[in-house]
Amino acid sequence: MAAVNVLPNYVKGKWVASAASETLDVVNPATLECLAQVPLSSAAELNQAAAEAQAAFAEWRRVPATGRVRYLFHLRELLEQQFDDIARTITLECGKTLAESRGEMRRAVENVEVACGIPMMMQGYNAEDIARGIDEIMIRQPLGVTAIIAPFNFPGMIPFWFMPYAIACGNTCIVKPSEKVPLTMQKVFGLIHQLDLPAGVVNLVNGAKETVDAILDHPDIRAVSFVGSSSVARYVYSRAAASGKRAQCQGGAKNPVIVLPDADLSMTTRILSDSAFGCAGQRCLAASVAITVGEARKPFTEAIATAAESRVVGYGLDEGVQMGTVISEQSKSRVESWIQKGADAGAKVLVDGRNPNVSGYEQGHFVRPTLLDDVEPGSEIAATEIFGPVLSLMHLDTIDEAIALVNQGTYGNMACLFTSSGAAARKFRYEAEAGNIGINIGVAAPMAFFPFSGWKESFFGDLHGQGQHAVEFFTQTKVVVERWPQEWSRQF
Ligand code: NAD
Repeated sequence: MAAVNVLPNYVKGKWVASAASETLDVVNPATLECLAQVPLSSAAELNQAAAEAQAAFAEWRRVPATGRVRYLFHLRELLEQQFDDIARTITLECGKTLAESRGEMRRAVENVEVACGIPMMMQGYNAEDIARGIDEIMIRQPLGVTAIIAPFNFPGMIPFWFMPYAIACGNTCIVKPSEKVPLTMQKVFGLIHQLDLPAGVVNLVNGAKETVDAILDHPDIRAVSFVGSSSVARYVYSRAAASGKRAQCQGGAKNPVIVLPDADLSMTTRILSDSAFGCAGQRCLAASVAITVGEARKPFTEAIATAAESRVVGYGLDEGVQMGTVISEQSKSRVESWIQKGADAGAKVLVDGRNPNVSGYEQGHFVRPTLLDDVEPGSEIAATEIFGPVLSLMHLDTIDEAIALVNQGTYGNMACLFTSSGAAARKFRYEAEAGNIGINIGVAAPMAFFPFSGWKESFFGDLHGQGQHAVEFFTQTKVVVERWPQEWSRQF
């Protein structure tokens, strides 16, 4: 058997071997090939990276914003050049289709592009003559060392919701990718290495809980950006706050969508099939509960069942495949056990995606699209994030009942409405308790110049990732009140 590479960390501008005693296999979830081993870096290794990032901060913050973003312009070019190679790596380690991996990397690049506008975005404001001869200005300054803790489902995109803004604002940064999918950031840091950034400005430390805890407790790390499950998000938020850090923690989701009788059936079905089953349902913006209103019930149920049955499932690198794997054997068993729990609780398994046979990849972690009908509102399966290609159907009589059901949910990442009525759309936009709203949209993912606005259990913090929120998160305001006596200034 060929030797498997243990992935290095990247600290102070150099690739360094980790001294970790424990490593995990990084496995292609379709073929089960072991791609590499990821080290679970110790607290001492994280502390070393934090010390280098802290040392680099003093000089980096003095580089003018126009100079800092020049590195990002270069990074954008390198990302475009290596776009397909990085997308392929995402598919290899994460299991999604190549088209989905490309879509994810497009979003990553867009965040670099937006962060190139920092010279304008981080400007403050001023007021002349707040009293006679006295002026007041607000300026934004960087915080220091920042850290990013990422989940497995978007190994390329999610670090880019934060990292370009952090460094463009004059901070230094440590990225801790998910230990399940560390290869994509290895590729990205290969490009970062070519930028000739001052050493220590951007660092990569692989690891899991011990590494995260070291980030949360480190006195010099001033801000933490986390994306992952809600239970870990809550933990990270409280432990980061306990050591005086800023934290923005994006959590899990259970996204409801409402289908009204006046919705365009074929468009709605196509969009919702992509939303529920795209990325094998491992998307924090996946539709997971579809609520039909009145007469939408029968036609939508039939149409979405046909769409679920006909989705082409297979290896993400193969031509024509529309849906890949879930991330692991453990994840496959968890998703399948939730399907059984739904059935045990009285839901009808209209389309059953358990234990599929995907020719050529019989050992792969595949679950086919699954539809559960007549799921009981308020039941455990209606409230729990399954994070797999499972769509639950519920049926109500009025839009008011449907919106009330949406608002009962504990998560608030996304809610969508399918309709041709402007009045219904406005009512929904106004009343729905979620931070990302779609009207005839199935994955209401904000562009890089809007905040990724989760609410309720889907977000802990106040400033979200991306756009102007990221600039505010990665800077602290300083207000200066100044007077220059005229007699004194006339001497010069
Ligand atoms: P996860 O919470 O298991 O892991 C996320 C990160 O936290 C990883 O880097 C991991 O190493 C670390 N971690 C895990 N357990 C920890 C612990 N006990 N203590 C400290 N650190 C720990 O999440 P995941 O399974 O990688 O990702 C899937 C989850 O992420 C889903 O719930 C999904 O909805 C959510 N997600 C949310 C968004 C969003 O924008 N709201 C986006 C993508 C994914």
